[in-house]
Order: sequence, then structure tokens, then C-alpha cells
Amino acid sequence: MKKLQAVYDQVVTRNPNEPEFHQAVLEVLESLEPVAEKHPEWLEAGIFDRIVEPERQVIFRVSWVDDAGKVHVNRGFRVQFSSAIGPYKGGLRLHPSVNLSVIKFLGFEQIFKNSLTGLPIGGGKGGSDFNPRGKSDGEIMRFCQSFMTELYRHIGPDTDVPAGDIGTGAREIGYMYGQYKRLSNAHTGVLTGKGLTWGGSLARTEATGYGLLYFMDEALKAKGKTFEGATVSISGSGNVAIFATEKAQQLGAKVVTLSDSDGYIHDPDGIDIEAVKQIKLVKRGRIKEYIDSHPNAAYTEGCSGIWSVPCDVALPCATQNEIDKASAELLVKNGCYALGEGANMPSTPEAVHVYLTNKIIYGPAKAANAGGVATSALEMSQNSMRYSWTFEEVDSKLKQIMIDIYDRASSAAAEYGDPDNLVMGANIAGFEKVATAMHQFGIAY
Ligand code: NDP
Repeated sequence: MKKLQAVYDQVVTRNPNEPEFHQAVLEVLESLEPVAEKHPEWLEAGIFDRIVEPERQVIFRVSWVDDAGKVHVNRGFRVQFSSAIGPYKGGLRLHPSVNLSVIKFLGFEQIFKNSLTGLPIGGGKGGSDFNPRGKSDGEIMRFCQSFMTELYRHIGPDTDVPAGDIGTGAREIGYMYGQYKRLSNAHTGVLTGKGLTWGGSLARTEATGYGLLYFMDEALKAKGKTFEGATVSISGSGNVAIFATEKAQQLGAKVVTLSDSDGYIHDPDGIDIEAVKQIKLVKRGRIKEYIDSHPNAAYTEGCSGIWSVPCDVALPCATQNEIDKASAELLVKNGCYALGEGANMPSTPEAVHVYLTNKIIYGPAKAANAGGVATSALEMSQNSMRYSWTFEEVDSKLKQIMIDIYDRASSAAAEYGDPDNLVMGANIAGFEKVATAMHQFGIAY
């Protein structure tokens, strides 16, 4: 980097011990170098310096009582990164690995992802280092209520609209929304991913996984390929992975793997998605239970081996940095020709380098998994109208949005001279819209 190196150096100095945040910023700034060349007025107006600094960061105590009467204290976060083009929007992650670095990387990425959808939403992210695993319903409820008791004063339907993420599904959104409503005395669209009887949108649950497949289908078609008959490897077994599997199967692919943080299953006959839904969504069990009813499938402890299973298309849908250089090389060696990111930043920078140098079709997270937040924005529109669209209406809007995201990313990549580089295209297309708004607002913004 030439023009933007100083911006990155300042980020590292100002935010020590935040490696995930540094990683996300570096990837974006590297893509934006040609934009800085083309737009000296943005450099002069400090747009690049400003966009890497969150508008507001809230860190708060969350105390709650477990079933045995013991008091626990967790740390809550909400990073409101950019409201240049709309209210802050981004999920709430509940996982023991959550810290400020993780929330800032996610919030930063969210700015560009949300911009790419073409909808009026800014970028933010939040969560807590609370571990939902093994907790009773009552413990989850008490945690969510305590979390919202502080968060509610920082959010609002025109200010900041959080959603789900790892560890935050329909149940948690319900407890949080109930508490928000009680505290604010208002029934507003302040969270998305809501239940269908109280403001939720049809197809929101499916949206990230389905959207990933719509995006990758478009990317494959552009190279004369299709999901029909393809072998697909998917990691994770949460919201994104389950509905990515379902849509991949509807498009004619055979999905052969899924995982959780303990290990992965390989079913050469193709994953039985209804069985997985029973285990993960109904019983809240572990993925290894799958082999009890599917004798041809194998379970392996540990996650990284999942990428040694040969596949045509890989769809990481679990967590950040789950594919390193060695795994990426193994995928390519075994014939994988396309990779789409359902999870946020699932590939290390070295892995991304392997995809780009081997010219595999690569759908970066910002573009490929934007279907969830796009459908959340559709939920906000329905809430504002006090009206609900049918599943088919929402699904067809989602599909068109994913096709448009592909077009925006590939056109920007072509305009800046690297037509197949969708990571560069997605970063540039997402950035330009936000930068234009920031420039027009003047320096104090
Ligand atoms: P869920 O909590 O529903 O599922 C997460 C899955 O990933 C689980 O199978 C979980 O296993 C596994 N996992 C989580 N952490 C790790 C880890 N450290 N190592 C290995 N496996 C892990 O989350 P989602 O499906 O909603 O989210 C998955 C990814 O998709 C995240 O990166 C999220 O940010 C991203 N995403 C989600 C969107 C959404 O709409 N939900 C939108 C856009 C992106 P276990 O059960 O063992 O923890």
C-alpha cells in the first residue's frame, strides 16, 4: 500500500491487541488503494481516516443469576460504526470468544456489506462473551433481559436495529424484544429476526443461507458452471449452514459435510437436512448425533479436517478464520473450483491469496452473506408499513438483491482492472456509496 499505509498504521497504533480488527481493515484498505488514487478529494477530506474509527462504542456490564442462584457478570458490546447511509444495522453475537476486536471487525465489515445491498442501512455490531452453550431457557432469558436493560437506551428503529448472529437466534431475539418493549413502552421494529406474530418477516430465517446460494449460483453461471450435480462441503450447523444446505440441495447439489465446534460429519450419500434440523433446531443437540441414525456417515473430532473432504464448491458457514493457507491449498488440490463465504471472514488473508492466485470463483463474505441483513432491511420496511409480504415475495426480492450485489461487485472489479476479483469489487462498491455520503456531510461527520 502507498497512499493508505499511514491510515492502517494509525489503526494498529490506536487499537493495540485487536488482531481481527486489523485483519479486516487491512483487507479493505488494500482493495481501496486504486480508489484513493482516483479520488484525491476523499483522501484530502480524511474519508479513509474517518471510516476506520467507529462513530460510537458502548461497553457495558451484564449481570445475571443462574439457576443455582449464583451471580455471573459478562461484558456487553455495541459498536455503532457508521450511520452514513442509514441506521446502524448488524447482529448480536453471544459466544465466549467475543471481545472488542471481534465486534469491531464485524462492525467494520458490516458497513460495506450493508452498503452493497443497495438498501439504506449503516453498519454496527454487538454481543457479549456470554456462552449460551449448556444454559437453561431460564438462564438464557435472564441474560438476554439484563443485556437489553442496558442496550435499549442506545438503539431505536431509526437509530440502531440489531439482529441475530452466532448464539442469538429466534429465542434470544424474543427475550430481548420483550424486554425492550417493556422498558420503552413501544412496539417498534427495533430488532430484526423477530417472531412472525410480532413483526418478523417470512424468509428471514432462511435468508443468509439462501442468499449465499443465490449469490454463488450467479457467480458460477458467469463462468459457465452450475450447482446441478456439484459436490458441496459446508461447515457449521447453525442458522446459515442449515439453510445453505437446504438451498444447495434445491439447486441440485449434493452437500456432504457439516460441523459444529466439536467436529464434523461426512455423509457421502448427501446430508439428510431434515435429520440435522431435528438435532440442531428442535433438540439443540450436537452434530455427532447424526451418525446414530445414518450409518454411512462418519464423525471426526476437531474442525479443520473438514476441508480435506474433496468437493467442487466449499461454503464455510461457521466462524472467522476457519480456513487457513494449508486448508485452502488442500481444497484447491482436491479440485475445489468455487468458494463462497457464509460466515464472516472465515478465510485467513493467506487463504484468500490461495483462492485468488489459483483463480477459483471466490465469493467474499461481504457480498455472499449479505442476504441476511438485506432481508432484515426488508423486515424494517414491512414494520414501517405495518404490512407483511408473503414468503415468495420476500424470497424473490432477496434473490434479486443477491443478483444485484454480484453485479455491483463484478462491475467495480472490472472498472478497476481486475474483473474476477470480487473481494476487491465488493470492497470498492460498498465503500464508494458510503464515501460519497460522508463527503457530502462535511468534515464534522
Ligand atoms: P449459529 O450460532 O446459528 O451457528 C454457528 C455454527 O458455527 C454452529 O454450528 C457453531 O457450533 C459453529 N461455530 C461457532 N463458533 C465456532 C468456532 N469457534 N469453531 C468452530 N465452529 C464454530 O450462527 P449463524 O449460523 O447465525 O452464524 C454463522 C456465521 O455466519 C457467523 O460467522 C456469522 O457472523 C455469519 N453470519 C450470520 C448471519 C445470520 O443471519 N445469522 C448473517 C451474516 C453472517 P457450536 O454449536 O458448537 O457452537
